[in-house]
Amino acid sequence: MKVLELKDQSPQEITVKIKDYTFEEFVEVVRSFHGFEAVGILIGGFMVDEAYRHLPRGPLFDALCETPKCLPDAIQLLTPCTIGNGWLTVFNIGRYAFTLYDKETGDGVRIFLDPAKLDPFPEIKAWFFKLKPKKEQDLARLLYEAKTAGTSICGIQHVRVPHKLRDKQHQNEFAICPRCKESYPVSDGESCLACSGEEIYEQVPPDISGEQV
Ligand code: ZN
Repeated sequence: MKVLELKDQSPQEITVKIKDYTFEEFVEVVRSFHGFEAVGILIGGFMVDEAYRHLPRGPLFDALCETPKCLPDAIQLLTPCTIGNGWLTVFNIGRYAFTLYDKETGDGVRIFLDPAKLDPFPEIKAWFFKLKPKKEQDLARLLYEAKTAGTSICGIQHVRVPHKLRDKQHQNEFAICPRCKESYPVSDGESCLACSGEEIYEQVPPDISGEQV
C-alpha cells in the first residue's frame, strides 16, 4: 500500500481499503462488532490486509495470534478463521502479532506492529505503548493516523509454525460428570475439571444469581 502524506490533515476523501472494505466501512463494522471504534482492530485490519498480500493463493490457512487483545477480532472479521471454528488459536505471549499459515506445512506469514516505524504517528505510538490514559486519547487523531499509516507500520516475517502449536486437540469422547451431571471430555478424568477442583466461579447467594423471580 502507498503511504499517504501526513501533512494532509483531512484524508477523509482518500479511499483506503482494508480487504474488501473501505477504511470508513471497516470502522462501522468494528463499531457494530466490538462496541466502539477500537483502534487496535483497525490497525489489525491493515495487518490482516498486509498478510493476504504475501500469502500464496490456494492453501487453507489457520491463524495463530500472539495476543488476546483486539487482534483476534480483526482476524475473525477479515478471514475465515475464528476461535469457534478452531482455525484461530490465541497463544498469549503479549506481542501485537499474528501468523496466517498453511494448515498442512505450517509455512506462513507473520505480521507484527513494528515499533521502529511508529515515530511519524505519535498518537498511535502513545496508544501502543499506553503512554496516555484512555480518556486522554484523541480518537479522531488516532483514526486519522491509522488511516494514514495503513500497512506502513507493519513488519513481516516468513515463518514456520511448529507441530506442537499446529496439532489441534480433538476431544471426541464425552461423558456425563457424576457430580455436576453436565457433559465433559472423558480425557479429563473421572469427573469434569470444575468438579475436580478447578475453581471457575465463586459461590454467590441465590438472590443475586440472576434467577427470574
Ligand atoms: Zn462436574
